[in-house]
Amino acid sequence: MTNGASEPLDDFVRELVRDDVANGRFMGRLQTRFPPEPNGYLHIGHAKAITLDFELANEFGGICNLRFDDTNPDTEDTTYVDGILEDLKWLGYQPHGAPLYASDYFEQLYEWAEHLISEGLAYVDDQDAETISDQRGGFGQPGIESPFRTRSVEENLELFRKMRDGEFDEGARVLRAKIDMQHENMQLRDPVMYRIRNEPHHRTGDRWHIYPTYDWAHGQSDAIEGVTHSLCTLEFDSHRPLYDWYLSKLPLPSDTPRQTEFARLELTHTITSKRRLAALVEDGIVDGWDDPRLPTLRGLRRRGYPAEAIKEFCSYIGVSRANSRHQIELLESFVRQHLNATAQRKMAVLNPLRLVITNWPEGEINEVEVVNNPENLDDGTRLVPFTAELYIEQDDFRADPPPKYFRLTPGREVRLRGAYFVTCTGFDVDDAGTPTTVYATYDPETRGGNAPDGRKVKSTMHWVSAGHAVSGSAALYERLFSTEIPGTETGDPMDDLDPNSATTLENCMFEPSMAHLAPGEVVQFERLGYFAHDPRTQLLFHRTVGLRDEWARIQQRG
Ligand code: ATP
Ligand code: MG
Repeated sequence: MTNGASEPLDDFVRELVRDDVANGRFMGRLQTRFPPEPNGYLHIGHAKAITLDFELANEFGGICNLRFDDTNPDTEDTTYVDGILEDLKWLGYQPHGAPLYASDYFEQLYEWAEHLISEGLAYVDDQDAETISDQRGGFGQPGIESPFRTRSVEENLELFRKMRDGEFDEGARVLRAKIDMQHENMQLRDPVMYRIRNEPHHRTGDRWHIYPTYDWAHGQSDAIEGVTHSLCTLEFDSHRPLYDWYLSKLPLPSDTPRQTEFARLELTHTITSKRRLAALVEDGIVDGWDDPRLPTLRGLRRRGYPAEAIKEFCSYIGVSRANSRHQIELLESFVRQHLNATAQRKMAVLNPLRLVITNWPEGEINEVEVVNNPENLDDGTRLVPFTAELYIEQDDFRADPPPKYFRLTPGREVRLRGAYFVTCTGFDVDDAGTPTTVYATYDPETRGGNAPDGRKVKSTMHWVSAGHAVSGSAALYERLFSTEIPGTETGDPMDDLDPNSATTLENCMFEPSMAHLAPGEVVQFERLGYFAHDPRTQLLFHRTVGLRDEWARIQQRG
C-alpha cells in the first residue's frame, strides 16, 4: 500500500490555491482556518478538515488559525472548547496564534448589520419563524415578501437596537437580509441574520440578546481574521452566493475570502453527525465521548489509534468534490501498519486454560528470551518466566480436534513460543466435560523453540507462567453499527446499532512485564491483535485492530 506521504499531494483545492498565489490574489498570501462549533467533540470527519487546512498552510508557507464558531448559546459549552484544543494538540497541529472566537466579533458583526440596514439591505421582520419559513417558497415555487420588508431605515434601526437591548421576547422578531424573495437559490430569499435568544453564552454571558446565524457570522469572521481560503464541506455549496453577497455589501478591501467546498468524510459502519454522537452518549448507549467504539478523536485515541495513522489516512484519501464513503478497513490498515512497526509484542492469554508440564523439574523457573518487536530488532529482547504451570488459550486445546486442527490435542506436539516443544499427554474435565487442566511433557533439547534434529511442528502457541501472570481485562469490539451504511433500510442509523458491540473478558492472564505498561500504550498481544492500555484503568486493554489485513482481502476480492 502506498500511503501517499512520499508523493506530493495534489487535488482541486491545491490547484486552486496555486492559481491564486500565481495570480497574486490576496497578494500571494494563504490563510486557512479550522472553525469547529463547540457543541461536541471532534471526530474523524473533522480530522479530514483539520488535515486539509493545516497541511495546506504548511505547504504554501501560510497560516491556519483555529476559530470557535460559537454563535449558538443553546448547545455550546467551554468543556467542548477545552476538549477540542486537547484533540487538536494530540493530532499534532498548532494553530497560528491564540484560539479565536466568533463571539469576539459580535460587536463588529452588529455594527455591520446596522450598516446593511442603513443601506436598505436588511430589515426587522415581526413574523414568527414558521410564517417566514412558509413564505420562503421552494424550488420553482415563488417566495412571498414579508409585509415588514418595506420598513423605513429609521424604524429598522430603532427596532434592531431594541432587539439588541433585550426589549422583546424570544422569537418575536428577526433581522433579515433584503435580497430577493424570488431568487432561484433559496439561501438568497431574505435569509435571517439575527435571532433573539435570552440565553447566557459561555463566553459573552448576558451581554447579548441577539445571536448571528451561521451564514451571517462565518464569512465576516473569515474577513476579520484575514482568511484567504475558507474551506468547508459540500453542504455549504448553495450558501456560497450568500457568503459572497454579504462580503460584497460591507466596507471591506477588495480581496475578500473565498469559500471552497469539499466532500465530507464518511466511513462504513460509522456515523459522524455530532448530533447523533451526542445522542449515543446521552442515552448511555456508549460509555462517554471517549468510548473506543466511537469515531471521535478521543474514542480513537483510547482505542489505540496513533494520530499519525489518522493523518496519513486523511492524506491518502485526499480531497475531492464527490461525496463518497470509505471502507473502515482502509483506516484500520493504516493503524495496523503503524502499530506493526512500533508496538511491543507481549504474551497475553484472554481465555486461560491450565497447562501442566509433568516432566519439568519441580520448582524450577526458567527465563526464556523473546524478541520485543521482530519488525524492529533495536527494541531488543526480554526475559519471560517459564515454569511447570502455564496458561494457554482455551481455543488452543481440543480433546476431539476437528479436521485441520493443528494446535494442542492428545498426542500432538506443538511449540510454545520462545520456549520449548511440548507434547500433550492428557487432560482433566469438569462435570460438564469442559477441559480444566491439560498435561504435557516438554523436550529439554528444544529450548528457544527449535528442535536440533530439525523436526517441525505445525503450530506455535502463546502462553504465560501461572505463578507469574498478572491478571486484567480485555475489551473486544465489533462494529457499533452492523450495516455498512447505518440506516439504509429504515432511514434511522440507530436502528442498525449492534447492542453487543462490546464484550469485556475478565481474568485474562498477562506476562509479568505488562504490569508496567504506560497508560495509553499500545502493544501487540501475540497472535491476538493490537491492544491499547486504558488511560485510566490499570490492566484494562482495548482491542485496537486485529492482526489480519482486512483491507488487503477486500482489495483482492474487489
Ligand atoms: P454536524 O455534525 O452537526 O453537521 P459539523 O460536523 O459541521 O456539525 P463543525 O464543528 O461545524 O461541526 O465542523 C467544523 C468543520 O469541520 C467544518 O468546516 C466542517 O465542514 C468540517 N467537518 C465536519 N464534519 C466533517 C466531515 N465528516 N468530513 C469533513 N469535514 C467535516
Ligand atoms: Mg457545522
